[in-house]
Amino acid sequence: MRLPFRHSSIRFRLLLASTAVQVVLLTLLLANSVRLMNDAASASLATLTTQNASMLHAMATAYGEQGRYRTLQDVLGELLTDSTEGLVYVRIGGPDGQLLVSAGLPAMTTLPPPTPDMAQALGSLIDRPIIHVRRPLLLERNEVGFLQFGVSVSVLAAARQAIIQQGTLIALAEILLTFILLSGIGYLLTHNLGRLLAGSRAIAEGHLDHRLPEKGEDELARLARNFNVMAATLQQRVGELQRTALQLRTSEERYALALRGANDGLWDWDLPTGQVYFSERFCEIVGRDMSGFSNAQDALASYLHPDELETYREVMRAHLRGESAQFMLEHRIRQGDGKVRWVMTRGVAQRDAGGRATRMAGSISDIDLRKRAEQQLVHDALHDGLTGLPNRALFIEHVQQALGHQRRDENARFAVLAINIERFSLINDSFGHAAGDELLRRVAEHIVASMRAGDVAARVGGDQFALLLNGIDGSTEALRVAESLVELPGLSAPAAGRPLHLRCRIGVAVSDIERDDAEALLRDADNALHKARRDQADPVEFFHASMHTQAVRALQLEADLRTALRIGGLTVHYQPIVALGDRRLTSFEALVRWRHPTHGLLPPLEFIPLAETLDLIHDVGMRVLTLVCRDLLEWGIAYPGRALPSVSVNLSARQLSRPNLADELLDVIESHGVPISCLRFEVTESVLADPDGPAKPVLHQLREAGASVLIDDFGTGYSALSYLHTIPCDIVKLDGTFVRSITQDSRLRDIVRRSIQLAHDLGIAVVAECIEHEDQASVLYGMDCDYGQGYLYSRPLEADDARRLLAPSNPGTPQ
Ligand code: C2E
Ligand code: MG
Ligand code: MG
Repeated sequence: MRLPFRHSSIRFRLLLASTAVQVVLLTLLLANSVRLMNDAASASLATLTTQNASMLHAMATAYGEQGRYRTLQDVLGELLTDSTEGLVYVRIGGPDGQLLVSAGLPAMTTLPPPTPDMAQALGSLIDRPIIHVRRPLLLERNEVGFLQFGVSVSVLAAARQAIIQQGTLIALAEILLTFILLSGIGYLLTHNLGRLLAGSRAIAEGHLDHRLPEKGEDELARLARNFNVMAATLQQRVGELQRTALQLRTSEERYALALRGANDGLWDWDLPTGQVYFSERFCEIVGRDMSGFSNAQDALASYLHPDELETYREVMRAHLRGESAQFMLEHRIRQGDGKVRWVMTRGVAQRDAGGRATRMAGSISDIDLRKRAEQQLVHDALHDGLTGLPNRALFIEHVQQALGHQRRDENARFAVLAINIERFSLINDSFGHAAGDELLRRVAEHIVASMRAGDVAARVGGDQFALLLNGIDGSTEALRVAESLVELPGLSAPAAGRPLHLRCRIGVAVSDIERDDAEALLRDADNALHKARRDQADPVEFFHASMHTQAVRALQLEADLRTALRIGGLTVHYQPIVALGDRRLTSFEALVRWRHPTHGLLPPLEFIPLAETLDLIHDVGMRVLTLVCRDLLEWGIAYPGRALPSVSVNLSARQLSRPNLADELLDVIESHGVPISCLRFEVTESVLADPDGPAKPVLHQLREAGASVLIDDFGTGYSALSYLHTIPCDIVKLDGTFVRSITQDSRLRDIVRRSIQLAHDLGIAVVAECIEHEDQASVLYGMDCDYGQGYLYSRPLEADDARRLLAPSNPGTPQ
């Protein structure tokens, strides 16, 4: 039901209601007052008529008995004049209607009929100012006449009127006063209510700092106080809420940003219903539209790689059972287009009070790149980048597995081959690393080509390969495979200009049941390889227990060599070089020796290859040069005024690849103050095989500085004669192998003679080394060879002995 005025203000409604109540009440009051007044007036009128009737009856009886109607009339006339009782006329009539007494209202000629009903009469008092009352009257002679009199009710009517008027006035005044009062109260009430209203509107509009004045102690003031408390609380709560919302928004934004940054997809699984939600990014990662799935199991089966399904479910079940704090699994998926990718799925279950998982949510990350990079890394970590073969670590792993097989089955024999390329460092140093790399690749191919099913090839070192021969019958089979590997196919190194025919050296270790260490087996094969490299005769060597002892010795030597270099233990012996004609001492060759604390004096062949392998050869070379410089200084002091002899210092091919080698050498010489012309540097001819190699500039620089350059072991390498003219050298040293056979081999003699002639034509002197016999010396002298070196003249001498040769008393002293 729609109430009227429901939109009006309380004040208006209050006023309206109170006015209506007032009007109703006052009307009731007024009506009641009029009724009471009428009752009172009727009562007064009845009394008035009764009293007047009694009085007139008495008078009429009294006067009528005496027949003195006339007198009565006069008395009544006077009475009417003074009457205060409202009596306005009196008529007394006989039974015949004849008037006996007529007092008052003389003009009234006919008697008006008596007023029938008093109450009714009162209702029309205004219209009927006179009430006519007729009563029977017992006259003399018992005749019944009548007494009629008129009572004026005008006073009564006026009084009634006045009362009604005053009542109405008072009612109106009351209404007005009530109105004013209620308006005032209403104003006071609604004024504060208005403030409350404005306050609540302000709060509703978000002005939470709005406060109401709190004057007074009345209910409204208390209400205002409560309102303010409420507003303050609200403001505080809203503030907190806003802060929380802000934090929430920030965290949501952060989360969203992190998610975007992490590029992860989301999933949310309601366990009781099986419903699952997948984010857009999730669908993107799995490469499928996942919206069609209403069941988590079906959804999972759609994108999970079939091989991963079991593991995934197992890990998931374990997490749901509460066995893990977080579900986390790296696994493969199959995208819509069939592509397989690696992803990482993470999730955490929400549990009810009983610990039962009710909901689970998590993320999916695309880790494909990382995973593949990892796999690549693992591959790279276990494979050689150049040849693609397994590396040493993986090879050891395979050997370990083979050992495992052998433990389970004694007949599961196998062999480990350590394969090394002959003169590889020479190729590397001479033709450059590109050629070296190419060679390594070719060797790898060569080995792989010879592999049987189940064999494993690996590159286990710079120029060293290994081959695991699984399931062999015994040593014979291993030997057959090893021998088939020895000859390498011709390699065309661009820098060499011609195909190079290289061979391998191979060490073989056959498994036996006592050996259960893969490293040890490979070491055995290595030791056999060392032997194969040392003994030129056989390119394939099998491991024997004695090799192990040698290997241990080599290890000990390595440590000792480092110590020797640190604290000094190397010394230099000097082998004289004489003029072939008169055997006059012309110079010395400095040959390094090692005074080993337990093995005694060690020749260079015992430790130079080791120093080269350990990259210590430069340190050895610099040490030798320093010792030579010191000895030269001492010799100079011992024989002042005497010219110092030249001393040849051997340089290793490895040293020559150092870019600043010449500077380093010249610095040492300069720092000792030794004349540079006293020094010769010997390099083996092999280092010059590559015309663009690093040796030439070094030798040029040394020669320009004043040192001489000597080509050692001349004739052993790559047809040195053909490029002799390009070599920056002063002297060549014919290799000992020529010298040894020169007396027997006439063709060799021809070659040597031509070589010497050619050298001389190019202004290069010739030294022949390893001359042990007089006939060798005379043949060489006959060929015009300039100088000789060998046991025939002198073995390498200690520095003091060499110095003594320089004594002026010595006839062979160089002048
Ligand atoms: P090399 O430079 O060809 O030195 C000549 C070698 O022949 C020396 O051996 C010497 O003692 C030996 N010898 C000399 N005359 C005869 C002889 O009539 N008959 C025989 N059978 N041998 C003779 P050594 O001292 O054992 O040196 C061997 C090699 O070690 C040297 O060959 C040289 O290549 C290397 N070497 C020696 N000292 C050094 C050094 O300080 N640095 C470098 N990098 N290598 C060195
Ligand atoms: Mg030499
Ligand atoms: Mg030599």
